[in-house]
Amino acid sequence: MRIGILGGTFNPIHYGHLLVAAEVREKFDLEKVIFIPSAFPPHKNDPDIAPPSDRYQMTVLATQSNPFFSVSDLELQRSGKSYSVETVKELLNIYGKDTELYFITGADAILEIFTWKDREELLKLCQFIVATRPGFDTEDIEGTILKQIQLIEIPNLDISSTDIRQRIKERRNIKYLLPEKVEEYIYEHGLYRTETIR
Ligand code: ATP
Ligand code: MG
Repeated sequence: MRIGILGGTFNPIHYGHLLVAAEVREKFDLEKVIFIPSAFPPHKNDPDIAPPSDRYQMTVLATQSNPFFSVSDLELQRSGKSYSVETVKELLNIYGKDTELYFITGADAILEIFTWKDREELLKLCQFIVATRPGFDTEDIEGTILKQIQLIEIPNLDISSTDIRQRIKERRNIKYLLPEKVEEYIYEHGLYRTETIR
């Protein structure tokens, strides 16, 4: 079985995430892509970080119309920060050692991941697929890393969760940046609306 995994805070999930997953799924003929919302250091009363249950729920709503997509709460179930290597090992336990795991990231995230101490171990456990992202030069990815990953070019969607959260604070439009169901969920639950009160 060939499975893709896309980790992220999904705060909130948007079309950039969905397009990356769909492009990689098709290109590498994956049987599925699992979206894994990450536990985020919870700053109390920080309206910029939606609770894990909301981020999970929005990810479910955004992916449910695609039969190749699923969502895992693996990292949300654990307390504290999850290391990708632990998540990958847990998935290999669940799906079996013969499973080929494809670890998907955007061009910005790979630079963070490859500072991790478990880099070498991770590289043995899964293939790294890195998608282009507007504003992040793939030329910044050094030669040593380039040899260990596969770079794929996807249509540029200059969308980020940070920008969506900012727009909501300013009561600006977020339509066409993310699925309507997610937009509705955000408004129904009053997410991201207020400035941090200090
Ligand atoms: P934030 O602005 O809060 O950091 P984000 O939009 O970067 O949010 P993340 O949850 O941090 O979203 O990203 C999860 C993964 O999806 C990362 O690997 C990231 O590089 C990738 N990604 C997110 N948006 C895009 C996009 N528009 N194009 C390509 N890759 C993307
Ligand atoms: Mg990000």
